[in-house]
Amino acid sequence: MKFVSTRTARRGVSLSEAITQGLAPDGGLFIPEELPHVSGNVFDAHPELAGVAAALLRPFAEGDPLEPDLEEICREAFNFPAPLVPLAGAPGPVSVLELFHGPTCAFKDFGARFVAACLQRLRSNASRKLTILVATSGDTGGAVAAAFHGRPFADIVLLYPKGLVSPRQAQQLSCWGDNVTTFAVRGTFDDCQRIAKEAFRDAELARGFELSSANSINLGRLLPQAAYYAWASLQISRAEGRKPNFIVPSGNLGNAMACVLAREMGLPIGDIVLATNANLTITDYVNEGVWRPRPSVATLASAMDVGNPSNMERLRALMPDIERLRSHIFAAHVSDEEIRTTIREDWQRYGRAWCPHTATAAWVYRDLARTRADEHWVFVATAHPAKFNEIVEPLIGEPVPVPAPLQRLLSLPRQESELDATLDALKMELMLP
Ligand SMILES: *Cc1c(COP(=O)(O)O)cnc(C)c1O
Repeated sequence: MKFVSTRTARRGVSLSEAITQGLAPDGGLFIPEELPHVSGNVFDAHPELAGVAAALLRPFAEGDPLEPDLEEICREAFNFPAPLVPLAGAPGPVSVLELFHGPTCAFKDFGARFVAACLQRLRSNASRKLTILVATSGDTGGAVAAAFHGRPFADIVLLYPKGLVSPRQAQQLSCWGDNVTTFAVRGTFDDCQRIAKEAFRDAELARGFELSSANSINLGRLLPQAAYYAWASLQISRAEGRKPNFIVPSGNLGNAMACVLAREMGLPIGDIVLATNANLTITDYVNEGVWRPRPSVATLASAMDVGNPSNMERLRALMPDIERLRSHIFAAHVSDEEIRTTIREDWQRYGRAWCPHTATAAWVYRDLARTRADEHWVFVATAHPAKFNEIVEPLIGEPVPVPAPLQRLLSLPRQESELDATLDALKMELMLP
């Protein structure tokens, strides 16, 4: 299987090359040359999550150096569960797909661990170390640091906007040391992203470092995410003989794009609903057919504060026909006030606490249940509420218990330096002897 850029038609690259390069040379995103179709019975032999992942991803790895190791890579990446938990007391059948049981308690752990497991095999004999530069608005940096910490083939450099992430996110970004260097940048997330982009074009850095990225446009983060949608939809269709619909909290559209891929590959998935916050680029596109990227606005669901969702380029390349897209993909936006109401009321109604991102999906479900309550809905819980305790606890009126992996990270000392928001400041730090 080869992968091509969303922009210019060129010779395709292999899965390994696509993961190592991150972005296509023309600035586009890698997409599969054609989408393989899988039939239900390829999953019968290994119905657990890691087995489903390996069976689903096998066609993409065909002929690639990673192919012989695919099962082992999936066992490493999917070494924690993605439980499908029924929501008792709801107006109809609804399940919560909990993606927050990994080391940093957000769904990004799956993709980050998959990329790390792939690069471990591709790079362990390389003569140079990779330097993976990550600009993060909160969750990506922690997941990448956790996945690569202690791996000798890579150094990780994290840039996050000082004071603009939640206190527990800041702790998860800065508690690593060793091969992880964390900078609290005196600027915004946009500054962090600009510095990272400039660094990739800098000739002096290119001589000293082999720079790479592990952000959500990397195909190695996207593909494995299709596995939990496959696994969840198979559970429900086997038990009930019908396809579930999914509601996915969305920002850069990486998570939802994986659900679209799983559906296009033939998995039993019905409608896909994209839940967004007050950033309206996605809803405008799906509902009105206009593509109107704009600066992001800050909301309670900060990991979804994206004004120019990068994976939209993949969605539009794979589904150029907007009418076909709108036959089964819908979008709805949710305000901060609606996020607060959902967290408060669902706690009272169901005894479940949502993180602010998950709450957008829970709100959208409420609305859909008014007319479509008898269908089976799955809404995706993207992070554990304890990561956003400063928002959630005042709304539910009690402390959110901290899961063990987060507890451990919170107990470690912080190791970070502050950085001016310029490329020169970063170069000074990196090029110190
Ligand atoms: C990153 C993130 C999202 C948004 O996911 P995309 O793939 O960017 O659409 C939603 N919720 C949480 C908790 C996240 O960390």
